[in-house]
Amino acid sequence: MRLSRYFLPVLKEAPSDAQIVSHQLMLRAGMIRQEAAGIYAWLPLGLRVLNKIEQIVREEMDRAGAIELLMPTIQLADLWRESGRYDDYGDEMLRITDRHKRELLFGPTAEEVVTDIFRASIKSYKDLPKNLYNIQWKFRDERRPRFGVMRGREFFMKDAYSFDLDAEGARKSYNRMFVAYLNLFARMGLKAVPMRADTGPIGGDLSHEFIVLAETGESAVFCHKDLVEMPAPGPDLDWINGDLQPLVNQRTALYAATEEMHDEAAFNALPEDDRLSARGIEVGHIFSFGTKYSEPMKATVQGPDGQQVPVQMGSYGVGVSRLLGAIIEASHDEGGIIWPESVAPFDVGIVNMRQGDAACDEVCDKAYAALKAAGKDVLYDDTDARGGAKFATMDLIGLPWQLIVGPKGVAEGVVELKNRKTGERQSASLDAVLEQLV
Ligand code: ATP
Ligand code: MG
Ligand code: MG
Ligand code: MG
Repeated sequence: MRLSRYFLPVLKEAPSDAQIVSHQLMLRAGMIRQEAAGIYAWLPLGLRVLNKIEQIVREEMDRAGAIELLMPTIQLADLWRESGRYDDYGDEMLRITDRHKRELLFGPTAEEVVTDIFRASIKSYKDLPKNLYNIQWKFRDERRPRFGVMRGREFFMKDAYSFDLDAEGARKSYNRMFVAYLNLFARMGLKAVPMRADTGPIGGDLSHEFIVLAETGESAVFCHKDLVEMPAPGPDLDWINGDLQPLVNQRTALYAATEEMHDEAAFNALPEDDRLSARGIEVGHIFSFGTKYSEPMKATVQGPDGQQVPVQMGSYGVGVSRLLGAIIEASHDEGGIIWPESVAPFDVGIVNMRQGDAACDEVCDKAYAALKAAGKDVLYDDTDARGGAKFATMDLIGLPWQLIVGPKGVAEGVVELKNRKTGERQSASLDAVLEQLV
């Protein structure tokens, strides 16, 4: 992409109502624009990152055996009456009436819809287990939308739903999602710690929030510090028949709880050096809730003994749009964003220090063509802005590599390669630099 033809409305300064660094940087880098409180347009640069994060989530869900579908954003109020949640949900639900006076709503989540889809088609235990997911816009009329995409009203969520015959199967489905979450957050360069979370009135111990530690996080969290550095297990697992329980146990054996579940005495029983009390961002939440929806909504299957049994369900959310904020909170400096390579909007930025100089233009064109041919996403700053301004923009938008082409270097047969994260610069021939990048 040539910057002269792109749409990258960067700002010198963030609007004063942007309180946290990720929100400020997303606005300054021209990634999002607020259209109404908690409702954002995703500008081209922001959309690229959103798409990359979405794709990582999708790949890890697919790997764990979940099946993608797409449910509507608009749902029927009557479905929510069946589960009993229509009245309970309260003011966070955006309620809509159509021209026929039919009551609709913009889905804040999709347990009811997915249960309706399931019950229409799946009638036998032989078709279980199933895990259906979608990545779709949600709406919650948050009391205090703030921090940009971190707490939006309209936001992008991956929500998966598992269906099993019995509690043992449900536990396995839960474990698959638990482990898939460890991997997917790690792929984005995040350290997300699973923490015991409130299961509400249903009880049980099967609910975990995945928390990225950050000073600007909205939740107070408490955990054993070893959990933060524990590496993700990686993809090479037997996702269908393997026993993932040991991987889950390894983590749940260590203390980790959000404020609502915090047990001061248990936490204080840890050696002081192991205790970590911090703030965190909830980027995912998994939950096993048995027959909460299947019972009232009559989602039953025929069991091996011929009896009809309500299915055991779980739901598993990831805040896809919130993740942009969480990643930036975890990875930035004074100059701007530092994208991990896996989610960067472009892999490389080319900075032409003297646009219009025939020699510089030629080297840049060659680099651009070669990188594109190698399948790299490249943003070529071919504008006639000053060098200093170009550097500032590149640092702000945080591409992992900057390839800098200036007249002096070109005369000597070299270009510069800058690593955004370390700040290291090296001079080498274009061919050597290209070899390193592709
Ligand atoms: P929170 O405690 O932050 O309000 P939640 O517990 O209400 O979140 P869940 O119902 O667990 O949210 O939804 C699954 C995921 O969706 C959350 O873990 C979070 O990452 C994301 N999410 C929830 N609400 C929002 C929001 N208003 N804006 C952006 N992402 C959100
Ligand atoms: Mg909430
Ligand atoms: Mg929460
Ligand atoms: Mg939650």
